[in-house]
Amino acid sequence: MITDQTEVAIIGAGIAGLYAAYCCEISELDCIITDSLLIPGGQCSVFYPEKKLYGAPGFRDVIAKDFVNVLASQCLKGDFEKLFGHRVKNISKTSDETFAIKFDNCDVCKYAKYIILATGVGDMKPNVPSAIVGINDIDKSSDFIQYYRMKVDLYKGKNIVVAGGGDSAIDFVINVAPVAKTVALIHRRAKFTCEEVKLKYIKELEKTGKLKLAMEHNVSELKEQNGKRTVVARDLNSNNFNETSFDVDHIVFFYGFSLSGNSMFGLEDIGLETENDLVKVDINTMETSIKNCYGIGDVVTYTNKKKNILSCFFEADRAVRMIKKSSV
Ligand SMILES: Cc1cc2nc3c(=O)[nH]c(=O)nc-3n(C[C@H](O)[C@H](O)[C@H](O)COP(=O)(O)OP(=O)(O)OC[C@H]3O[C@@H](n4cnc5c(N)ncnc54)[C@H](O)[C@@H]3O)c2cc1C
Repeated sequence: MITDQTEVAIIGAGIAGLYAAYCCEISELDCIITDSLLIPGGQCSVFYPEKKLYGAPGFRDVIAKDFVNVLASQCLKGDFEKLFGHRVKNISKTSDETFAIKFDNCDVCKYAKYIILATGVGDMKPNVPSAIVGINDIDKSSDFIQYYRMKVDLYKGKNIVVAGGGDSAIDFVINVAPVAKTVALIHRRAKFTCEEVKLKYIKELEKTGKLKLAMEHNVSELKEQNGKRTVVARDLNSNNFNETSFDVDHIVFFYGFSLSGNSMFGLEDIGLETENDLVKVDINTMETSIKNCYGIGDVVTYTNKKKNILSCFFEADRAVRMIKKSSV
């Protein structure tokens, strides 16, 4: 159900936030969950999707992204609002003690009786290339340039260039190639570092003409004129700077992420206590120094706090139990 009012607003859809949403669902608490990224899983999805995960109950051999997929399918099924691609900018309190949550780049304001801060290591922003000719001339509202998208349906029947050669770029190409009209992959190195099985699939896509590879190339220019969009790639090995042009609908950049830290959303002004940029919570309740504002996961600190997945689950469960108790 989509309204501006909710009982619980969960900020961050990493492991902690995801599980908190599930706990709200089974406790019959209305909630919304929001994340500045377009995908769930936070650090697991962004920093180490292919790493084996240790200490995840029920799994002996699981890599991070598979674990996130299983968790997201458990936790995001419920009938509540999921605001991916929405970065929280500011949280304040209204005169009736409700929290007002404001977002970057949109006028929407959400109101919640309880807040759960699950912002982990903070805001992870996709790296935006700036040295490409013409990139600053592209209309900001155009959907030509995109970053780190995993929803392949958006590219059905479209011509796409993918820029980057890491695991996420390769995974994206493998997923999008069957539905897109054409896919080209531009990578500045001569080789990919992904597993053999993925490499085989990439080669197969190339052989069948579904994928064009521009290895040892850089994206050098973007043009959008009279509805025609062009990506120019430059051969890094040729002294003549040989260039190849691709007519596209979208370019999707996979140039990694950078951290811009936790902002605390102005909550310090209404009494949020922090220590070394982490939110202090009472381990018995997971409540912060602000009434009805809770903290879970890597963003919080207390005596003997461990930053791991198990703690995310325990803290999410405890916070939601306490909210349920105080809401009845
Ligand atoms: C390399 C590495 C390996 C690890 N390996 C293991 C392991 O094997 N086993 C284990 O148990 N633990 C491991 N960990 C630790 C584990 O990954 C973390 O404890 C856990 O992922 C923390 O989850 P979280 O939800 O608290 O935070 P995060 O994963 O950081 O998620 C926070 C979310 O909040 C969002 N967010 C932040 N600011 C805003 C904002 N302003 N608006 C909207 N959204 C926002 C972010 O986009 C992010 O999605 C590892 C950590 C690292 C770095």
